[in-house]
Amino acid sequence: MTTVTPGQAQQYSKPLPRTNADSAPYWEHMKEHRLHIQRCTGCGTLRMYPRPMCAECYSVESDWVPASGRGAVYSWCVVHQPVHPGWKDELPFTIVEVELEEGVRIRSTVVDVAPSELRIGMPVELIYEDVTDEVTLPKFKRA
Ligand code: ZN
Repeated sequence: MTTVTPGQAQQYSKPLPRTNADSAPYWEHMKEHRLHIQRCTGCGTLRMYPRPMCAECYSVESDWVPASGRGAVYSWCVVHQPVHPGWKDELPFTIVEVELEEGVRIRSTVVDVAPSELRIGMPVELIYEDVTDEVTLPKFKRA
């Protein structure tokens, strides 16, 4: 028998990220409200999303470095069709690609900007959304 503890996890209706050995440190840092980026220890190249091998030098050795959370809108799209029932009440919404100061890009949303107000190069900064007791998602707001 499974015991379910009342909490946010029961109320969050969208899919949650699946972690693996490569991404677990990213999500652990996120839960602590810290953004860290995977870095190749062979050549120093940063990579986002986390993955096992460097695309530049093929090293499988890496570590994690803190990031500022500051960046700019690189691109975005407006979603009009729900890809999951959890988003149907938020349509239309945007998926934004943010280029961080460190040079890597991350996909998320900008929480306080209407789709019609988004601009390429708009400065944004990371905020942390605790969607369950175990999962924190990176979101952005206008800087
Ligand atoms: Zn490398």
